[in-house]
Amino acid sequence: MPTRFDATRTPASSRPLDVLGVPGEINLDYAASAPCAQAAADAVAELLPWYASVHRGAGALSRRCTLAYEQARQTIGDFFGARADDHVIFTRNTTDALNLLARALPAGTTVVTFAGEHHANLLPWPRGSVRLPVPTDPAGAVRDLASALSELRRGSSPALPVLVAVTGASNVTGERWPVAELARVAHRHGARIVLDAAQLAPHAPVDLLTLDVDYLAVSGHKLYAPFGAGVLIGRADWLDVAPPYLAGGGATSRVGPATHDVTWTTGPARHEGGTPNLLGAVALAAVCTALGDADRAALAAQEQALLARLRTGIAALPHVVELRTFGPDAPRVGIVSFVVAGWDSADVAARLATEHRIGVRDGLFCAHPLAQRLLTEAAGRTGRRDLPPTALRASIGLGSTAAQVDRLLAALAELA
Ligand code: PLP
Repeated sequence: MPTRFDATRTPASSRPLDVLGVPGEINLDYAASAPCAQAAADAVAELLPWYASVHRGAGALSRRCTLAYEQARQTIGDFFGARADDHVIFTRNTTDALNLLARALPAGTTVVTFAGEHHANLLPWPRGSVRLPVPTDPAGAVRDLASALSELRRGSSPALPVLVAVTGASNVTGERWPVAELARVAHRHGARIVLDAAQLAPHAPVDLLTLDVDYLAVSGHKLYAPFGAGVLIGRADWLDVAPPYLAGGGATSRVGPATHDVTWTTGPARHEGGTPNLLGAVALAAVCTALGDADRAALAAQEQALLARLRTGIAALPHVVELRTFGPDAPRVGIVSFVVAGWDSADVAARLATEHRIGVRDGLFCAHPLAQRLLTEAAGRTGRRDLPPTALRASIGLGSTAAQVDRLLAALAELA
């Protein structure tokens, strides 16, 4: 039977940020998919009886569903600080959102990324994209971007667009990237910037205006909503003239009898062909509302205390080595990757699951260039020759507890 963990430690009356879970199972894999929040489950349950088509029916149920979908768009846009002329386009997830943007780039756009990105923010970009090496500190990232953009501007026509694509927080190390500074550099060089907020948004407020980023991509399933809904938010101009991402019903304003006699609509609908994921959109909006009402500084303080407990515990285990890109004190969200010397990471993950009922992730975390580099760095830093070629990752968030962290540390200690 699913139960609820106390996430917010608020009085029992209203607990929208409690998360659902299964008694006895310790989920330390939030960075892959976070558990569903009560707010999302409630929103879905409330709407289910009204289940009907969105944007396609005249009946009361259908009209209510259309309203709920558009309200969800507004709520999510507001939560992320969308500007009045931004589009909020529903997608399946962050990968989908970044692929949509990649397909909407004007001809000749150069995309600049860092090798520290998740594959979702490396692979969609067109040929000729520039991939900067992983920097050793946040200031280095800003410097490297500035010199790459200067170089690019010297070598190419100033009229050709440039898009910088960066993550807000690494899915491997949890380290936060200096997004506002990178945005300033991008804009100083006449470039635009897209923020992959998949890992940052679950842990900290993300606001387009404050960060001054042009586009933002996020996944509902990492933000305590169910799978299948995400958004791309950002500047309308490229999006309104790009080929529709999903050609089909809803994306057109007129279709004539001749092949290709089509007038594509503008606005988010241009890229949302087909019947949309209403429940996913509404669930994500409900989480945004709940997070918007919450004391996020208090939630972040709880998470940082747990993260410190986890990292201190790992540092005390001589056979466990943390992976990191920047210095040990760089700001980060609740994600830690590590290796256990002398142990295959897949074996450790399996043992944690079967013997301790602890779920973590193992592998290279869909960020092969970064993970491989960090494994090499860890071997160099420690001088150890018995580190495995893949890693383990523990990640926490709403509902995580000190007892869960301690269980993981105790299980790792047994592997000495
Ligand atoms: N970006 C980052 C930083 C991620 O961690 C992930 C998923 O782990 C993605 C993008 C892709 O997210 P999704 O699988 O929801 O598309």
